[in-house]
Amino acid sequence: MIITDLHLHTAHSGDCDEPMEAVAESAIERGLKEICFTEHYDPDFPPEEEYDFTLDADAYLTHFKICAERFEGRIKLLFGVELGLQPHLTEILREYAAAYPFDFIIGSSHLANGKDPYLPSYFEGRSEREAYLEYFESTLKCVECFDDFDVYGHLDYVVRYGPNKDKYFSYGAYSDILDEILKRLIEKGKGIEVNSGGLAHGLDHPNPRLEILKRYRELGGEILTTGSDAHKAERVGYRFDDLNELIKSAGFEYITVFEKRRPRFISLD
Ligand SMILES: [Zn+2]
Ligand SMILES: [Zn+2]
Repeated sequence: MIITDLHLHTAHSGDCDEPMEAVAESAIERGLKEICFTEHYDPDFPPEEEYDFTLDADAYLTHFKICAERFEGRIKLLFGVELGLQPHLTEILREYAAAYPFDFIIGSSHLANGKDPYLPSYFEGRSEREAYLEYFESTLKCVECFDDFDVYGHLDYVVRYGPNKDKYFSYGAYSDILDEILKRLIEKGKGIEVNSGGLAHGLDHPNPRLEILKRYRELGGEILTTGSDAHKAERVGYRFDDLNELIKSAGFEYITVFEKRRPRFISLD
């Protein structure tokens, strides 16, 4: 049984209204033992989009401390962030990561060259393959130029929003670029996460899909965290029973939790 959800949003994220307390209560109901809030910090997000991803980390930290105390003995709460990576933001993000006592940092690509795959316009006027490749190439750039994260978030996130979603998507069809990303992450000692949000977005797989998890393991990758990416309390730990089986079938015996940016390994059985 998986007892940690290390990818959760609350009302401190610009696209979420759920109180931190409700997320923690839901995690307790689901039998989770430790969870990490990973609020969005996405500077320089396209201004035409309605969301404000400029996280007020001081307010977030103050609220977190109150909650951590309130829930002590019932569940362990961890203080994290999901950084929206873009190559030109390296310096800003490095300073931000160092300015707060984060337990855990997810580095994620939510944009590729400033464009948002969440919007249909990202896919217009080109093939799905070109659009997916641009996303993965921009992920590789971020992996190359940035170090201040612990795991890379939802590696094949772009597939959630493609016109055909994962119908024509496989590791094999994109193995060159995916291998480069995975190898660089492993060389840098970075992990990946398995994010059940993919299953909530109409895919048959989490992000990334099983083949990519297997490949990461095969190349020597050992650091894997589990996250639901819940933006609603009822989505906490979403389909973690399925994730448990999937992770084992990918060749992992352990999952990882980060505290004070240090990994700790938990046996899956
Ligand atoms: Zn994300
Ligand atoms: Zn997220």
